[in-house]
Amino acid sequence: MSRAQPHYFGAGPALLPAQVLKQAAIDLLNYKDSGLGLGEISHRSAFAVSVVDSAKATIKELLSVPETYEVFFLQGGGTGEFSAVVYNLLASFALKTGKKGKADYLITGSWSQKAAEEAIRLGVDVNMAVDARKWSSNGKSYGTIPDPSTWTLGNAEETAYVYYCDNETVSGVEFPYIPEVPEGVELVADMSSNILSREFDVTKFGLVFAGAQKNIGMAGVTVCIIKKELLARPKDDDLLALGIPLAPLVLDFPTIVKNNSLYNTLPIFNLHIVNLTTQLLYDNGGLKVQEVLSDAKAKKIYEALDSAPKGVYNCIVDKACRSRMNIVFAIPGEGNEKAFLDGAKARGLTGLQGHRSVGGIRVSNYNAVSVESVDLLVDWINMFASNA
Ligand code: PLP
Repeated sequence: MSRAQPHYFGAGPALLPAQVLKQAAIDLLNYKDSGLGLGEISHRSAFAVSVVDSAKATIKELLSVPETYEVFFLQGGGTGEFSAVVYNLLASFALKTGKKGKADYLITGSWSQKAAEEAIRLGVDVNMAVDARKWSSNGKSYGTIPDPSTWTLGNAEETAYVYYCDNETVSGVEFPYIPEVPEGVELVADMSSNILSREFDVTKFGLVFAGAQKNIGMAGVTVCIIKKELLARPKDDDLLALGIPLAPLVLDFPTIVKNNSLYNTLPIFNLHIVNLTTQLLYDNGGLKVQEVLSDAKAKKIYEALDSAPKGVYNCIVDKACRSRMNIVFAIPGEGNEKAFLDGAKARGLTGLQGHRSVGGIRVSNYNAVSVESVDLLVDWINMFASNA
């Protein structure tokens, strides 16, 4: 069973390493000679528990997660986390302070914007401490991370958490640093589209989450890393008295952690893909090696775009926060983007269409995208520019 290596740059669900898919295909049919495929085996079986434990252990190893943190898995995707963050972080803040906390959101793209909108919908007093749109020439585009000196973070005594998106998949904006937050305020990060592409210091965070479908595996599993002390809770009645909604059980972090991520039916096959992908990353040298590779691939693409004659490609994201994972640009001129996409497709380069909300071109440079694919794309970027 095989296929030609695709040169696919889609933003998610994204490409998976061929070795992972080959092993997964075998395990979907007959896992460890059990006569059953992993998609058919009970989530209460020893096999399922070993998949959970192994995925947890490899992620802990890759990210040097300390003992004071817990790694767990759930469904609901990145969007489920937008809600889960609210319920869980307000509850732990209430235990610490006896108050309903407020939240700061750093809005640097459409995913952090959506997360803030969900928090508002759930009744949180949200302070948009940064709204990057205000810094654009038309007042509505994303493409920058305003300097921290301009952020209007709320009062530390009243703020449960500061939320941000480490890599904005649609606008191609990535934080080149971890935001500083006041002592005692928890930092929450959506790393759905750049986790496992570089090392980071887990201890700076209260919570990190990531949908698996870009750099870790397939849609259906969300990975969370949480500071253990945030799993403590007041009584439900006390939360309700403060006007804090109770988390639905499938989004209630303490319930999930207590049950080793198996409170309800977890998609074990999808988690197995996480397991295989993270194991491969580990065997290939871990995140230090991956970071060098990700940076080098992104650099090649940006260099090709920047070295084209002026006006052929338009990269609107500030150089300081250009994403290494999602490289977005426009090609001004009637029909030029279509011509670029058509020419790319003819060369076997696919998945390059920008997000439907912003258009343009988007190159997703996730871990499974090979240097060979990037080189072929760079050749096409150069050739298109020279004929423009
Ligand atoms: N956060 C980021 C950064 C994303 O890129 C996405 C989806 O692409 C989401 C959240 C939403 O994820 P989901 O579709 O799994 O809910």
